[in-house]
Amino acid sequence: MLDLIDLRCPISLKIMKDPVKTVNNFTYDRKSIEKWFKTGNFIEPMTGQSLNDIELTINTEIANILVQRNTCSNCNTLLQKPKRCSGCNRVCYCNMNCQKTHWKKHKNNCTRENKQHVHT
Ligand SMILES: [Zn+2]
Ligand SMILES: [Zn+2]
Repeated sequence: MLDLIDLRCPISLKIMKDPVKTVNNFTYDRKSIEKWFKTGNFIEPMTGQSLNDIELTINTEIANILVQRNTCSNCNTLLQKPKRCSGCNRVCYCNMNCQKTHWKKHKNNCTRENKQHVHT
């Protein structure tokens, strides 16, 4: 399980929407890195190395995690504004109904990072 930090763009520090890799294999959000290149910076933001090529390729591994993060655990709909489970913050749902329906399966996996829920 990847930490939330790994899903953040090192430039914008926000969760990435369209993760892309530079030729040096660093991952950024496409919007951030394209803006960076537009200002004439043809260097790697993370290391200051110059880039031979500003080609960007999609980081499919992170893209898949992002899709999973934003997919309703109950009905598998990809959501633009997912509502996260307040218990674990790891799964999301379209609405309360999906959350209620899925709770039977989810309750055993729903734990806060530092604290275990006690289900009665
Ligand atoms: Zn749903
Ligand atoms: Zn949960």
